[in-house]
Amino acid sequence: MPHLETPAIVLSCVDYSETSQIAHLLTPGEGKIRVIAKGIRRGRSFATFDLFTHCEVVVLRKTNPGDELGILVELAVHSSFPGIRRGIEPLLAALLGIEIAVASAQEGHADHEAFALLLEYLHTLDDSSSRQVRPVVLLYLLHFLRTAGLLPRFEACLSCDRPSEDSRSPLVFVAHEGGFLCGSCAETTTGVEPVRPATLSILKSLVKTTRGPDHSVRLPPASLREMETILLTTVEAALDRRLRIPRVLLPRFRRSTGHGAILGGPDAGKTTAAGGGKP
Ligand SMILES: [Zn+2]
Repeated sequence: MPHLETPAIVLSCVDYSETSQIAHLLTPGEGKIRVIAKGIRRGRSFATFDLFTHCEVVVLRKTNPGDELGILVELAVHSSFPGIRRGIEPLLAALLGIEIAVASAQEGHADHEAFALLLEYLHTLDDSSSRQVRPVVLLYLLHFLRTAGLLPRFEACLSCDRPSEDSRSPLVFVAHEGGFLCGSCAETTTGVEPVRPATLSILKSLVKTTRGPDHSVRLPPASLREMETILLTTVEAALDRRLRIPRVLLPRFRRSTGHGAILGGPDAGKTTAAGGGKP
């Protein structure tokens, strides 16, 4: 029986019997895989093998096509990210990463960058204070779209090519076209989100950073909202589905950090720091 030895992140796990569980794992080299963990509910690893867990696994795989359920035979847990479960916002933020990974990863398709991005996101959430969660989510969405080559065109109007910073009136975001229309070109377009040129300037500067900005970037509440809407709408258009977690998470963000946030800076921990919200 062929076997697979790989790092993995647990995307879901459900009890299968008195002693076993079935889990979906994200791996760098094989995309999503499905495994049965026989006897795990009686073993020592049970307490740490859960949603989000980062581990090293050995999986036996059957050779007959169509039978994708592997057998988990070895498990070494690196981290189960206890910090993520300390509050509802980091938990929902981590669930958003899982929801996006479940929707975007494919079985049998290697995606090393997507695995590394999710892993770093979980580590950052694990280490972040509650007030840092909102900008961490924003950067994750931006990096997810960039890694997947799906970033909208921020620089200029899709129709007349006028640079977005030259626009005096709000631009409109057209998700299915992957970019923006200036005020003049957008006059006849309905059902689109207006976006201030200042928001696009912040997005353009964030895109240039690989992990996070090396100086503090102030994110006013209106720009935060607009960026969240732009990035989430783009992710949903790319995945061709409406995500569930943002419907719960975004209203919470907007109540608790209504004064905006500050992103990055030299002493901002691993990627981000936030401030300016209500105490
Ligand atoms: Zn235009």
